[in-house]
Amino acid sequence: MRILPVRTEPLLLRLLFIVLIVYILIRAIKAYLAGTRSAKRRRSTTPEGEEMILDPQCQTYVLKKDAILQAGNYFCSRECAKLFLSR
Ligand SMILES: [Zn+2]
Repeated sequence: MRILPVRTEPLLLRLLFIVLIVYILIRAIKAYLAGTRSAKRRRSTTPEGEEMILDPQCQTYVLKKDAILQAGNYFCSRECAKLFLSR
């Protein structure tokens, strides 16, 4: 009669242990993901001019330093700026 509780107790402890491990793993993964996300954010703050800007006319990305600023929008060329502003 004493064998039963002795058998079930380690099973419960094992289950608790597994739950604890899973919990720790999830927390570790979340911390890791948060770390990489903030690292990426830090890396994306490149010096001015290295930033990529979307040309609203032809939908291409151009370097900010190479882009043409017209009426608050950046364009890859004067032609795109002219076309966009004449719309
Ligand atoms: Zn363009």
